[in-house]
Amino acid sequence: MNGTKSYLSKTVEELKPSGIRRFFDLAAGMEGVISLGVGEPDFITPWSVREAAILSLEQGYTSYTANAGLLELREEIAGYMEKSFGVSYSPRSEITVTVGASQALDIALRAILDPGDEVIVIEPSFVSYVPLVSLAGGMPVQVQTLKENGFKILPEQLENVITDRTKAIILCSPNNPTGTMLSGSELEAVAQIAERYDLLVLSDEIYAELAYDGEYTSFAAISGMKKRTILISGFSKGFAMTGWRLGFVCAPEAISQAMLKIHQYAMMCAPTMAQFAALEALKTGRSDVEDMKKSYRRRRNYFVQSLNELGLTCHVPGGAFYAFPSIKSTGLSSEEFAEKLLLEEKVAVVPGNIFGESGEGHVRCSYATSMELLQEAIKRISHFLKRNQKA
Ligand code: PMP
Repeated sequence: MNGTKSYLSKTVEELKPSGIRRFFDLAAGMEGVISLGVGEPDFITPWSVREAAILSLEQGYTSYTANAGLLELREEIAGYMEKSFGVSYSPRSEITVTVGASQALDIALRAILDPGDEVIVIEPSFVSYVPLVSLAGGMPVQVQTLKENGFKILPEQLENVITDRTKAIILCSPNNPTGTMLSGSELEAVAQIAERYDLLVLSDEIYAELAYDGEYTSFAAISGMKKRTILISGFSKGFAMTGWRLGFVCAPEAISQAMLKIHQYAMMCAPTMAQFAALEALKTGRSDVEDMKKSYRRRRNYFVQSLNELGLTCHVPGGAFYAFPSIKSTGLSSEEFAEKLLLEEKVAVVPGNIFGESGEGHVRCSYATSMELLQEAIKRISHFLKRNQKA
């Protein structure tokens, strides 16, 4: 027998561990750190939602649900998608409740990819897309959006990388890590490409509730696109429910049924108490979501303006809770900047390069933290820049 390592699959061996981890480990060993690193709300899940989960336990709902999730929850999701985003899905055949948007992404990719199929990943992007495509046997094809374009994808950039093997594009608006939100007409341009080249679009709409400027458009609501869209969403961000691990995926029936096959064998169902919590979140959580959104918007306005005043130029992110300033004025690489800032001023941010090549020269700062801490972080960053800004 060789070393245990020789048993590992080549695909897994080649996966790189997430670059965010190193910084969390570093920060975890230090005191007094202000973390702008983690991508999650600073709010606790609304009480009514927690109470619904407690009640479900008290009433003894502790067994599996249907594979696709509680029918009542799927019906509520269908109503929510229709009312909030103008897209209608059948709760019985087109909606699957998943263990976070993460599992939805995983089963969507596994349901559609054959070995060697290509999936376009628009970078800077959420760190899971590339590894999940590889794990599903596909080939990630990365395209770099640029700061000059507000990190928006241009149709010709997509066309340049489409081949006979391209099967899907992963779209994320509002985006993690840039906060960039695409308008209806920008989504139309992507839709035209999807139509012309007969592609699917995995639309990650996990930040749809956190859109601050203008109307949010779901990709599935673009004319003719519902049949090409696998719409991924969940409760983690908008409803402040990261730890509940609850998401959902809406897709045309054939794709939904294929995803359900994987889901029933690999997961059985999403956690029952979390499904009851989600049901309550949709029924009564709207005003809480609105309050949280108002608070993020206030913090975004303060934080982004302050970064720009310090010379860390930053476009105004249309959604999510991330600012993605340029740190080029310091002459430091994004990793050097993040490490030095942490060690010298105890502020944790995430180096932009881990989100893709075009993320280099930037850092991701989550402003989902209190105003007081944001103000203190700005003070510390200002001290840091006095020492580290190039003349
Ligand atoms: N998509 C994006 C763009 C994200 O930022 C995240 C969480 N960071 C996820 C999906 C996963 O969310 P969930 O907690 O629902 O698995």
